[in-house]
Amino acid sequence: MSRIFNFYSGPAVLPPSVLERARVGLTDFAGTRMSVMEISHRSDEFIALLRSGEQRLRALLHIPGHYSVFFLQGGASLQFSMVPMNFLGKAVADYVITGVWGEKAAKAAAPFGNVRQISLMTEDRYRRAPGDGELRFSEDASYVHYVSNETIDGIEFDHDLEAGSVPVICDASSNILSKPIDVEKYAFIYAGAQKNIGPSGVTVVIIRNDLLERSHGPAPLLNYLSYTSADSMPNTPNTWGVYIIDLVLEWLQNEGGLQVLEERNMRKARLLYDAVDGSDGFYWGTAEAASRSRMNVTFRLPNADLEELFCREAKTEGLVGLRGHRSAGGIRASIYNAFPMEGVERLIEFMKDFADNNRP
Ligand code: PMP
Repeated sequence: MSRIFNFYSGPAVLPPSVLERARVGLTDFAGTRMSVMEISHRSDEFIALLRSGEQRLRALLHIPGHYSVFFLQGGASLQFSMVPMNFLGKAVADYVITGVWGEKAAKAAAPFGNVRQISLMTEDRYRRAPGDGELRFSEDASYVHYVSNETIDGIEFDHDLEAGSVPVICDASSNILSKPIDVEKYAFIYAGAQKNIGPSGVTVVIIRNDLLERSHGPAPLLNYLSYTSADSMPNTPNTWGVYIIDLVLEWLQNEGGLQVLEERNMRKARLLYDAVDGSDGFYWGTAEAASRSRMNVTFRLPNADLEELFCREAKTEGLVGLRGHRSAGGIRASIYNAFPMEGVERLIEFMKDFADNNRP
């Protein structure tokens, strides 16, 4: 079966070799002659799988021993509430907002205490991430929260945000594992799995243990400390999701790790932005050049009718999922780790033909 080029923003493309291997685990996991979905999460085989996933993640991101790793449910959106529930307390929390997901996170935190929004919006639009060292944070803030890649707006930080002694909490849902990061600059990183890590239904949480100790969530599953007992599984995790995650992480290791992936991702993004910039203004990028996302390439055409036609015609060419988020419009090409270079090249060819045929 020839595969379509899948530009969806999440759930998103997975490596074909992972899907092939998952066929086996679907019916016979680790020689158990049972599906990975049929075995107990307390079985030796599943606990070994969970540990394998954690170890691979630790190896890929160089996560030090004084951080814990958990696989939660509820999506990144649940973290929007759980983070303030556990860590906001009586002090202020600073929310750096560079797009729609940062806005949502700040809104979810507001009922739990004092939230200060540091918005980068200008003229009703998000176009950039702050430069390294540009922002000033509240003294004695409980934490600073930011979104390292805004999936809808196509805006990405090109650096690990630093906030001195204030703990940094990062929603890395749409660029985790796309490049090396310095985990020690963060107190807490979370990411919904469905873009670069695996299927939806699992949220990866990486938390520094001193912050973990300060968790004061009001109920068992809403307090991070509950994940430290019973093999990090206070209840039944998404066993299938964890299985696919382990396969994706193994794939990443076999590809050569995050440095290799970063170079590949940079090449793909550069080619695509060059095509946008080289179109004599037919296409134009929505983010400032220095803040352009390598994962979600967002651009516009001369009008909404042409954007609609672009998506429809692209689909007939086997290029699927290019319509921008319903709140943003325009075009968004999501080119995560597993998205192949060949698909980027095909999109660029299509863009050239489409511009030639539709230039006003
Ligand atoms: N944060 C970011 C950066 C996202 O891209 C998304 C989903 N696209 C979310 C949070 C929300 O994730 P979920 O649907 O897993 O709750």
